[in-house]
Amino acid sequence: MARKVPLRKCTGCQEMKDKRQLIRVVRTKEGDMSIDRTGKKNGRGAYICPSTECLEKAIKNKGLERSFKVNIPSEVYDSLKEELGDSDA
Ligand SMILES: [Zn+2]
Repeated sequence: MARKVPLRKCTGCQEMKDKRQLIRVVRTKEGDMSIDRTGKKNGRGAYICPSTECLEKAIKNKGLERSFKVNIPSEVYDSLKEELGDSDA
């Protein structure tokens, strides 16, 4: 049975990719942002490739800010970078 692979757009490079190849960044009602590795956290989600390169792009083009319609403080980006760095190791 062929199931259509769900595609999501990376907020960094703007490419459509298989959802499973992307990581989900979630923003909760409380305004906390974190990387959702389970894909099951509640809140608004945005997708990004698991690379700091795409995160840098997302910072530059304000892709995440557009997705979440909020200002994102730089410490949020810092913690996302840290989490991404961990996944590379
Ligand atoms: Zn990307």
